[in-house]
Amino acid sequence: MKLERESLNLLQKAIEKLESGFDLPDLDQSYDSKKMEEVILRAAEKMQDNYPYFHPLFAGQMLKPPHPIAKAAYMMAMWINPNNHAMDGSKASSPMEKEVVADLAKMFGWNEHLGHLTGGGTMANLEALWVSGKIHPEKKIIASDQAHYTHERISEVLKLNFDKVATDHQGRIDLAALEEKLKKGDVGTVVCTMGTTGLGAVDPLDKILELQTKYNFRIHADAAYGGYFKLLTNLVEHTKNKYSVIDQVDSIVIDPHKQGLQPYGCGCVIFKNPEVAKFYIHDSPYTYFTSDELHLGEISLECSRAGASAVALWATHQLMPPVVNGQFATDLEKSRSAALKLYEKLSSNENFFPIVKPETDIVTWGLKGKCTSHMSELAHAFFKKAEENSLYLSLYKYPTSKLNNPDFDIDSEYLVCLRSSLMKPEHEDWLEEIWDRMIASL
Ligand SMILES: *Cc1c(COP(=O)(O)O)cnc(C)c1O
Repeated sequence: MKLERESLNLLQKAIEKLESGFDLPDLDQSYDSKKMEEVILRAAEKMQDNYPYFHPLFAGQMLKPPHPIAKAAYMMAMWINPNNHAMDGSKASSPMEKEVVADLAKMFGWNEHLGHLTGGGTMANLEALWVSGKIHPEKKIIASDQAHYTHERISEVLKLNFDKVATDHQGRIDLAALEEKLKKGDVGTVVCTMGTTGLGAVDPLDKILELQTKYNFRIHADAAYGGYFKLLTNLVEHTKNKYSVIDQVDSIVIDPHKQGLQPYGCGCVIFKNPEVAKFYIHDSPYTYFTSDELHLGEISLECSRAGASAVALWATHQLMPPVVNGQFATDLEKSRSAALKLYEKLSSNENFFPIVKPETDIVTWGLKGKCTSHMSELAHAFFKKAEENSLYLSLYKYPTSKLNNPDFDIDSEYLVCLRSSLMKPEHEDWLEEIWDRMIASL
C-alpha cells in the first residue's frame, strides 16, 4: 500500500465518540450517494495527476505528509467545523489552540508569550512585521538576500521601508554588511531567518544579538521552516549556539505545516512580550458573547480560521510532544543525518559537488563541468532524467558571485543546482535508493 489508511479507522471511531457527546434528536441526512460517489471518484482521478509528495522518492521541494493522527484529528473536527476566530464558534478548539501555541513557545524557551495559529507562514510573518511597524513606524525592516521573498512583499503591503542585506557563501547574513546598515540608525527590525527556504542556512543570531546591544533594533526570527531544529541534538556547534539564544528575539514565526506534520493551513506567530496585544485591540459588533478572556480573534489579524488546524496540532503534540529526545525530535534528527549522508556521498563523487555543507536538512549540489552555463544545462538535464527514474528533486539558482574558490569558469550570473529537502523521517532509510537513482540519472 502506498497511501496511509490507518487514519480511516481512527476517524470512524473518533466520529462515533464525538457524536456521543451531543444529546439531540436525529437528523434526516439523505444525500444522493450514487452521484456523490461518481463525483468523488472523478476528483480522485484528477488528483492522480500529481507528483508523489507523500513518498520519500519525492525529495525535492519542501513537502512532508501530515501524520495520520493529524489527518484523523483534522477530519474529525471537520464534522463540527469550528471557527477559531471567537470562543462561541470554537468552545473546545480555541483552548486547544492556546495549549499548542504555549507548547511551541515553551519549545523556544518562553513561559510567557502572546501568540496564535495562522493560515500559514506568510500571514504569521505579516503580523510580526505589522507589530514591528507599529513599534518603529519610521524605520526599516532588514532581511537577508536569502530570506523568504515574502518579507519584501509584506513590507510593501504594510508600507514599511525594506532593505536587503548580503549573505556570505553559506547563505547566512553577512555581519559586516549588516553592521554597515545598522550604523545609519534607521533600522527598526532585523529579520533573522532560522533555516532559509533555499539552502536551509541559519543566520548568526548569536552575533546579531551582540550587535543589538550596540544598535537598538527589534529581532524577528523567521523560523517558518527551521523552528523545530531547536530540538535537535545532532546539529553542529555553531548552529546549536544560534538556536540556543532564540528566546532572546522579539517575535518568532514557525510553520507546523512545514516540518510539524500538519496539513496546510497551520502557521504560528509568537511574541515574547504579551503587551503587543494592545495593537490588535478593536471593537467587534458581532462576535464575542461568552467569555471575558481574550478571544483569539482579538489577537489576530485574520478573522475566520480553521479550528480543525488546532485540533490536529493538539493531537499531534499529545502523541509526539515537541521536546528534546522525543519521538518527533528523533525523527527530525533522522532527516538531518540523511542530509549529512548525502553530503558525504556528493563530496566524494567525481560528478557532483556540494554547494554548501547542510546546516539543517536541505542539500544543494551542482554537476561538475568547465563553465557555469554548461553546468547549469547539465543540472537541468539531470533533473529531468531523475524524474524519469521516479526521483523528484528541485532546482535552485545559486549566485555565482558567492561560489567559494571555484575550479571552473564563471560565465553566468547564476549556477543552476539541484536541491533536495530530506524532511521525511523515512529519508534516511531511503538514502541508498535515492543515491542509486541519482547515479542512474547521470
Ligand atoms: C515557507 C516559508 C515562509 C512562507 O510560509 P508559508 O507557510 O508558505 O506562507 C516564510 N519564511 C520561510 C523561511 C519559509 O520557509
